[in-house]
Formats: sequence, structure tokens, C-alpha cells
Amino acid sequence: MRQWRYSRMHCARLWDELEEIMAQAYSMYIDGEWVSEGARQIEVINPYNGQVLGTVPEATEEQVRKAVGAAYEAFGEMASMPAYRRAEILARASQMIAEREEEFARTIAAESGKAWRYALGEARRAKQTFLFAAEQAKDITGETVPMDAAVRGVGHIGFYIRVPVGVVAAISPFNFPLNLLAHKVAPAIAAGCTVVAKPATATPITAIKMFEVLLDAGVPPGAINLVIGRGSTVGNWLVSDERVAKISFTGSPDVGRAIVARAGLKKVTMELGNNTAIVIEPDADLSDVIPVCLVGGYANTGQVCISIQRIYVHRDIYDEFKERFVEGVRNLKVGDPLEEDTDVGPLIAETEAIRVESWVNEAVKQGARVLVGGVRDGIMYQPTVLENVTPDMKVMRQEIFGPVVCLIPYDDFDRALDMVNDSKYGLQAGVYTQDINKAMRAVQKLNVGGVTINESPTFRVDQMPYGGVKESGLGREGPKFAIEEMTTVKMVVIKVK
Ligand code: NAP
Repeated sequence: MRQWRYSRMHCARLWDELEEIMAQAYSMYIDGEWVSEGARQIEVINPYNGQVLGTVPEATEEQVRKAVGAAYEAFGEMASMPAYRRAEILARASQMIAEREEEFARTIAAESGKAWRYALGEARRAKQTFLFAAEQAKDITGETVPMDAAVRGVGHIGFYIRVPVGVVAAISPFNFPLNLLAHKVAPAIAAGCTVVAKPATATPITAIKMFEVLLDAGVPPGAINLVIGRGSTVGNWLVSDERVAKISFTGSPDVGRAIVARAGLKKVTMELGNNTAIVIEPDADLSDVIPVCLVGGYANTGQVCISIQRIYVHRDIYDEFKERFVEGVRNLKVGDPLEEDTDVGPLIAETEAIRVESWVNEAVKQGARVLVGGVRDGIMYQPTVLENVTPDMKVMRQEIFGPVVCLIPYDDFDRALDMVNDSKYGLQAGVYTQDINKAMRAVQKLNVGGVTINESPTFRVDQMPYGGVKESGLGREGPKFAIEEMTTVKMVVIKVK
């Protein structure tokens, strides 16, 4: 087990503050009450040093049913709450997250292993997500329908309104424990829905703190519920409950597919994985692109759904790119996520580090070359660059979800776009070029949910529509778009005499 290092004042201060969240017994929130008892207690572990941060109860089936029942009962109250009140609550929650941003960042870093600067960035983004949802709460509108465009419609007035769907099951992954839950809970409140949230079992404390904020901000008890526990039990009970109207899920494609199969007649949003690609043309400014690839490839130890995994570099600049990129990777600081200058922390679990190691070793056996990294030390995996890779290798085809990037030279731009599209995923992809025609061809040809031009494919601001095609998912997040998915159209027809 690794020991904490006290080399920096910053780290020592964070350590002191961490004691606030150490080894506490935390609770779920069900039907207006904090509940400390469940089927068993689960220890929440700091992946970097193995320290127990606290315990949380795992929900029983009865508790999951009670949480859904409470959300179902509270729906009438939420649906009739005026938009200005929903907006006020969300704006207040945004403000409270800002006031507690360091506490949120510490909790995220401690339970997910995310490096401090990225954890702080996540807390700041969550503040924005709540604010965007607050603004959108005031702008949920319908449209008039030109009824007399049909002969039988003459003499009628028609319009539709958007109404909340009911209970939203919000299931989130470990890698953005605050902001991705915010992307479900905030639009649900904005829409007038009620919520049962299930965070990843590895990272429930951040979710608990978000619930504290929401209750302090004025969300009615019962309207939001938080159940904790494994997907295979708690998750299954939640998604199969017929009182749930909508499932908003972020996680891996296999789990997403299993949820859709179990869901029955429910609306679903699926935010799933990717093996993100970027194409770099010879006219790209490498002093711009290389830092983008370093952050995009290795932030959060590569555990981001849009982590850069495949870098296609034009052959004319391949050698220069490779040399400068590998040098940059060597300079990344790997270590304690709570140290301010750490770039790369641990993976979420040692089993994940072993999986990443085995995929890299398999690629090497198949002919790939390790340019830097390729070494595991327990739960830590060194930032790794591979070349001489082929499209059939796992490190290229699957989502590696670790600090591993593949370099691939190309000669022809359109061929590079085809290689980007040669994937079962389609979340985001990026192109660096100064040629407007190539940029627009990329926009037209790339089969993904989002194309970035002269910007990282890892780029996301929280108001934009975000989501994928193919195995990367169904539906879009971003408060405006999530609200559309959490509301339904109700048509009104009036016959005028
Ligand atoms: P995961 O294993 O799929 O888990 C995600 C969530 O689903 C967790 O809360 C998990 O609970 C729960 N779950 C597992 N099995 C379930 C079931 N049968 N029914 C209901 N819920 C179930 O994903 P992860 O490892 O936490 O996150 C990594 C994945 O998320 C990657 O594929 C990444 O690309 C994807 N991701 C996508 C986006 C996006 O916006 N597109 C963003 C971030 C991450 P447990 O924790 O108990 O297993």
C-alpha cells in the first residue's frame, strides 16, 4: 500500500481537510430521510493508498422500491412547482457547489483518484451545469401547430406543451462522480421530474454531498432519492421498476445494453463509451496540438469517455510529432492525486490496471512498439504511447479507459477519416487543419455525435448537446437537451365554433 507523501504544504492541508471525510458512516437518502442501515455496509476506498474514506449502506430491494415509491408520490408536487421556483432551487444549488468547491474536489480526488486540478475543474463544471439547468427551467416551451394545413383541421386551434415524464432513474459512473450526476439530476429538477439516483459504488460520497446541497437549496423531500449499491442488484431493481418513467444512464456499453433490455417501456438516455480519435494535418500548429493530446490522452488517467486513444498524424509531421509528444508524456507527473501538480493518478482499481497492462502486452505480442510507459506498479499504470499498431488490436478497437495512446501515421486525409469511422463507437472526434474544405469534409463524413475542429475531441462545455451514435449511446445530455428527453409532448386541440 502506498503511503501519503507530505512533500507539499498543499498536500498537507488537503490531508488535514480530508480527515473531515475520513472513515465517516454515510447515509442514503430515501423518502425524505437519511438512512444509515441497509443490506450491508460498503467501504469507500481511496484507490491511491487503499485508505478507507468512509462506509455507506447498500440498499435492499425494499429500500429501492421505497425510494421509487417516494419519487412517484412526490411527482405531482414537483410537476406543479412553478418554473421560477425550480430555477431558484437550481441556481441556489449552483451557488452552494461553488462555495463548497474545494470540499467537492477533495472528495472526488480521494474516492475516484482523479488528479486535484481535474477534480477542481469538475466541481467548477458542476456549478455551471446547475446554472444552465436553472436557466433552462424557465424556457421549457411548446409550439403552435398549423391545424388548418389539413382539411379536417380547419376550425381548430392546436398547440403542444412539454410536460415532465415522471420518475427519472439517474445512474452514473465513477469517472465524473459529481458532474455526470449533475447532468441527470439538475435537468430532471428543471423539467419538474422526480429522481432516484444511483451513483457508482466506488464513488458514492460525492453524490451524498450533492444531495446535501440539493436539500439545502430547497428540493422537496421525496422528490430526490439516493440509493447506493451494486448495479447487479440495486441497479437492476431500479431500472426494472415500472413506476420509473425514464432511465438516464452513463457508463459502459455492455451495462447500457443490459439496462435497455431490462427497461421495458421506458424512455432511455444512454451515454456510453468511445475510442476517441484525432486527425492531425501537416499544417497544424504542434505547439497547440501536443498539449491538447497530453491532456486529452492522460487526464483522469485516461478514464474519460472522450479520452484521446487514437492519434492519426500525417506522415510529413509524424516523426516530429512523435518526438515532442513522447517527451511531453515523459514529463507528466504520476502520483498522488491530491498533490497540486500531479497529472496522472491511479486507475479506479488494480483489476483495471491489470486489464490495461494485459491489453498493452497483447498488442506488443501482435507487433506494437512501446515508445514510453508500458509499466504497471500495483494500481498505477505509467502513461503509455504505442506505435506500429493495427486496427484489429484491442488497444485500437475497444475503449481502453486507461493512460494509453496509439500513434498512427497516414498519407491521405480522407483515408484518415475512414479510419476514424472504423469503430463501433461514435461519441466525439477531432481534426486539426487550416483547410476549411477538409474541416467541412470531416464534419460531413465523421459518424460521431460531436466533431471538434482545431480543438480537442475531449472538449466539452456543459450546455452543448453531448452524446453519441453507434455503441456510444442514445439521446443527448446538456441541460437543454436532457430536459427534452425528460419531458414529453402533450398536444392540445381546441375546436372553435
Ligand atoms: P459501468 O461499469 O457501466 O457503471 C456505470 C454505472 O452503472 C454504475 O453506477 C454501476 O454500478 C451501474 N451499473 C452496473 N451494472 C448495472 C446494472 N445491471 N443495472 C443498472 N446499473 C448498473 O461504468 P463505469 O466503469 O463506472 O464507467 C466507465 C464507462 O462509462 C466507460 O465506458 C465510459 O466511456 C463511460 N462513460 C461515458 C460517458 C458519456 O457521457 N458518454 C461519460 C463518462 C463515462 P456499480 O458501480 O455498482 O457497478
